[in-house]
Amino acid sequence: MDLFEHQGKDLFARHGIPIPRGIVCESPEAARAATEILGGTSVVKVQVQVGGRGKGGGVVLAGSPEEAEEAAARMLAEGFKGLRVTRVLVEEHLSIAREFYAAMLLDRSTGTDLAMVAVEGGVDIEELARTRPETIRRLHIDPEIGLHPYHLRRLTGSFPPEVRDLVENVLAGLYEVLTGEDATLVEVNPLVLLSDGRVLALDAKVTIDDNALWRRREIEMLKSSFPIDPVEFRAREAGLQYVKLDGEVGIIGNGAGLVMSTLDLVQQAGAAAANFLDIGGGASAESMATSLEVILSDPSVKVVLVNIFGGITRCDVVAEGMLAALERVTPQVPIVVRLDGTNAEEGRRILERANHPRIVSVPTMLEAAQRAAELARGRAA
Ligand code: GDP
Ligand code: MN
Repeated sequence: MDLFEHQGKDLFARHGIPIPRGIVCESPEAARAATEILGGTSVVKVQVQVGGRGKGGGVVLAGSPEEAEEAAARMLAEGFKGLRVTRVLVEEHLSIAREFYAAMLLDRSTGTDLAMVAVEGGVDIEELARTRPETIRRLHIDPEIGLHPYHLRRLTGSFPPEVRDLVENVLAGLYEVLTGEDATLVEVNPLVLLSDGRVLALDAKVTIDDNALWRRREIEMLKSSFPIDPVEFRAREAGLQYVKLDGEVGIIGNGAGLVMSTLDLVQQAGAAAANFLDIGGGASAESMATSLEVILSDPSVKVVLVNIFGGITRCDVVAEGMLAALERVTPQVPIVVRLDGTNAEEGRRILERANHPRIVSVPTMLEAAQRAAELARGRAA
């Protein structure tokens, strides 16, 4: 479970890691008031569970309460990278002298915790790992031994001498969060040195181990504050596996393997999936109908691709389910259907007979993906 930045920072503060002063705001007016409290300037940060906010307009340095209000209004109205935004974090505007990087994570491959630091933070850490991996210092921490001062000394070896103690204090706090709060990842990018000499966690990314939530009730409760995608909510209610992506082809398939291969084929055909939904084995007419409704309610879907391989699932039942669904919803987009396996012939006949203007029946998976991609690009009729 990924926490919002402000939730991660709350955990940081509880473990003695210094963070900027900040106020969580749910309205533009609150962002204005918060900026006044913070001395007239602020940094307005969109709260979403994805990164890259700095580059994507999700972090705004506001020079006045009015600017903060405007930035918050835009973020709350527009969302961020297709995600709904229900609040922003308004923080004091700090004067940054240097940016570093620090992270700790559970390394499953070695069964240890892994600490990573870089004196050149603030930049894209993946980029740094690719181009100059030697600048990232890594250290494995055996959970039986725990974190000790000699670990910290080694990690901060290339930091400026005057900040080493302060950075070590942050690292010790991060290790406490990792182990004490059942996190699998804690990342601070950037960890900053301010002009006044303080060292602060300017950002916080914390992932909590889902398997530990039963004993982390107060953290699990944070989940209720996550904005729920309405489409995702409907899918979950209906017991369907739904995943939102950012392309334009809506995909329905039965079985995880088939759905994954369908995603690959769509990609190869030059399009991208808007979402996918696995209706599982033994798909009923009812679940097919709900699936179509769910997929079609995502406004980014330009074409739907239904890929069914009948085993226990019978293609004639799927076809009937689709027709039933099309009586409940009126799709504005084409629906490419590939049926194969048990009762495929019968299923295709049912669709043919119905002669629905939106249904495009295609015999193979590859052709179906190509056809869907074509239609998504708006080339074909
Ligand atoms: P991310 O892009 O989603 O990782 O968001 P961050 O919280 O890391 O913020 C992105 C960038 O905004 C940081 O690297 C900083 O350079 C800048 N930033 C954030 N807060 C402040 C601040 O208080 N003062 C200044 N000068 N820059 C800030
Ligand atoms: Mn960051």
